[in-house]
Amino acid sequence: IERAAVLRKRFDIHIAGQNVPAPLESFEELISRYGCDSYLVGNLSKLGFHEPTPIQRQAIPILLSGRECFACAPTGSGKTLAFLLPLLMKIKPGSKGGVKAVILCPTRELAAQTVRECKKLAKGRKYYIKLMTKDLSKSGNFKDMHCDILVSTPLRLDHAVKKRDLDLNSVEYLVLDESDKLFELGFVEVIDSVVEACSNPSIIRSLFSATLPDSIEALARTIMHDAIRIIVGRKNS
Ligand code: ADP
Ligand code: MG
Repeated sequence: IERAAVLRKRFDIHIAGQNVPAPLESFEELISRYGCDSYLVGNLSKLGFHEPTPIQRQAIPILLSGRECFACAPTGSGKTLAFLLPLLMKIKPGSKGGVKAVILCPTRELAAQTVRECKKLAKGRKYYIKLMTKDLSKSGNFKDMHCDILVSTPLRLDHAVKKRDLDLNSVEYLVLDESDKLFELGFVEVIDSVVEACSNPSIIRSLFSATLPDSIEALARTIMHDAIRIIVGRKNS
C-alpha cells in the first residue's frame, strides 16, 4: 500500500474508490504479476513504448482486476493503450461466440485510428479487429461475422444493432473513449441504447476522456457499478 501511494504521488495519479489495485511499476510487471503473454510486451517495445504513462500505470491494473473505471488524463497521455492492453490480455483471439469488446469513439477518424493501433499492438496473434464502416452498419451480415473487438461511432453501432440484428450480448468489455465528447455531441440516448444492448451482466465498462465534468461523472455513474475514478494531473485541464 505504501509503494502504491508513493507511485501515485510520483505520477500525479489521483484515485477515488474502494480497494484500488496498485499502479504498474513497468510493462514487465504485466508478465510477472498478471501473466501477460510476452508477445504483447514484445510488441510494446517494438513500438517504442518502454515505460507506461501515468494513466496506463493505474488504469491497466484496474481493468485487469475486473473493475470498472472513469479515467481522466490529458490529451496525448496514452489513454488508447490504457484500454487496449487489458482487452488484448483478457480476450482470446479468434473467438467464435460473438463480439467480445466494443470501443465507442466520437468520430470516424478516431475509430479508424484506434483500429490501427489495436492491430499494431496485437501483431502476431489472429484477432478479428473490426471497424464499423458505413457499409458494414448498413448492410453487414452480423450472424456470420468474426469479430473479437469492434470499434464504432455510436450511431453506426446503434443502426447495426437495431436494423441489422447485430447481437452484443456476448460483449465483455465496453469502452467509451473521449466520453466527454460522446456525451457533448448529444449521443446520450444512443449510448444508453448501446449500453442496454450490451446485456451481459458481467460486462466491464470504462470511460476515458481528457475532461470529466461533474455532469458527465453523474451520468456515467448511473451506468457503472463500483467504478474507480482515476484522474491524472488536474481534473479538467
Ligand atoms: P490520448 O488518447 O491520451 O490523447 P494517445 O493514446 O492517442 O493519447 O497517445 C498519444 C501518443 O503517445 C501516441 O502516439 C501513442 O502511440 C503514444 N504512446 C502511448 N503510450 C505510450 C508509452 N507508454 N510510451 C511512449 N509513447 C506512448
Ligand atoms: Mg484518445
